[in-house]
Amino acid sequence: MTSVVTRGGDAATAHRSARTFQVRTYGCQMNVHDSERIAGLLEEAGYQRAADSADPDIVVFNTCAVRENADNKLYGNLSHLAPRKQADPDMQIAVGGCLAQKDRDTVLRKAPYVDVVFGTHNIGSLPALLDRARHNRTAQVEIAEALREFPSSLPARRESAYAAWVSISVGCNNTCTFCIVPSLRGKEVDRRPGDVLAEVQSLVDQGVLEITLLGQNVNAYGVSFADLDQPRDRGAFAKLLRACGQIDGLERVRFTSPHPAEFTDDVIEAMAETPNVCPTLHMPLQSGSDRVLKAMRRSYRAEKYLGIIDRVRAAIPHAAITTDIIVGFPGETEEDFQATLDVVAAARFSSAFTFQYSKRPGTPAAELPDQVAKDVVSQRYQRLIELQETISMEENAAQIGRTVELLVATGEGRKDVATARMSGRARDGRLVHFAPGPDVAAIRPGDVVVTTVTGAAPHHLIADATLIAHRRTRAGDAHENGQRPSTGTGLGMPGIGAPAQSAPVAAGCAR
Ligand code: SF4
Repeated sequence: MTSVVTRGGDAATAHRSARTFQVRTYGCQMNVHDSERIAGLLEEAGYQRAADSADPDIVVFNTCAVRENADNKLYGNLSHLAPRKQADPDMQIAVGGCLAQKDRDTVLRKAPYVDVVFGTHNIGSLPALLDRARHNRTAQVEIAEALREFPSSLPARRESAYAAWVSISVGCNNTCTFCIVPSLRGKEVDRRPGDVLAEVQSLVDQGVLEITLLGQNVNAYGVSFADLDQPRDRGAFAKLLRACGQIDGLERVRFTSPHPAEFTDDVIEAMAETPNVCPTLHMPLQSGSDRVLKAMRRSYRAEKYLGIIDRVRAAIPHAAITTDIIVGFPGETEEDFQATLDVVAAARFSSAFTFQYSKRPGTPAAELPDQVAKDVVSQRYQRLIELQETISMEENAAQIGRTVELLVATGEGRKDVATARMSGRARDGRLVHFAPGPDVAAIRPGDVVVTTVTGAAPHHLIADATLIAHRRTRAGDAHENGQRPSTGTGLGMPGIGAPAQSAPVAAGCAR
């Protein structure tokens, strides 16, 4: 199918400007960032963002196929909207994201009142599809099998004035047997470094202090450039980190998620030697058992994983390391699970995202024999959580007395309501609830404060000491004025060329 974006003026624009929209997002950071693009596109087409409490004229669901029961949740949410749609046929419902890519026509079969179904590679077509659905009074479905335009070329309306996602690649060349991502997002396509850096610079020019480089397999960057004139470069990710270090005003650089199999020492060196790269690493482990890693088709082994962590800690002693772990993968024995506990005990993660394995239709693992009984999975899961909570608590308690620099955040945790504390993220990514002191009105999200850690819990730190410093920033000014950065058109992104076939396998990225 083809993708034509109409951004015209005239009567269509006048019609759109009277209409409001809301984007409802499920799933990972990729989806959150895609939703910023969806909002940017709709605003550029003339639609208005609806107030949170309002009934919008258009509801866009940006779906996720990874979480358990994602489809039940989507169809439940759609059915809630059915009476509104029946009462107001001009109201429009669009469904995009991974579940739309996977389910395609099923969406319309189960919810025939939906106006638009668009795939993960068709975000740019959404305004045209909404126009066409309204004009023709028929549902529009557009699902492309492969990327034709790097999504960062689309206008994006960013949610935060101080921190921003920057995609450096989309898709994944791996075939982890539990993961649906490669079949829905396609093979990896890397963006030119110059384009990535232009977007980072543009965000920093608009006041952003922190960027997170985003890719399914972020450290594989450099081996699948969209631009064929750009030579394949295994060292491209480390170079990109160092280049971010040259951008004046960029205070914090993060990245997610690296794959242990691709992790090279030049990246550790770049992290250690580039002052604005934060001392933190989120690296999915998934299992500590070599046998299970093999069945997952994850090509590293526990020893290699722990070796990377040792080298990161040798180069960056205070690095906070976090991970993702799946419990109860098909065939996991008590011995395999014990191997995971052993790696967790040795790695001393500051925190871990833990998941109970459940079948994801369409993934190879869903067909494997020896699915582990639910009660066994949940018992193991509890044991893992208990171990990790103990470690998180000990690691956080070791922070008491340390001086931390916090980027003040908005809406992180409810602690602030009860205690008048505000919240921020330390450079190592830890969430810190801090006492703002008498100057509370002057401290805005996007500002930077320095304080001392006075208490710890497994999932956050407390800093009730007197503030050592408060720096007002351009990001804080922008937040206070309600300004949000925008990116997209005009950054010189390349097209992708002829569509290729998407990868045939894989399933639910547990990240
Ligand atoms: S979990 Fe999915 S997205 Fe992540 S490396 Fe494996 S196949 Fe790629």
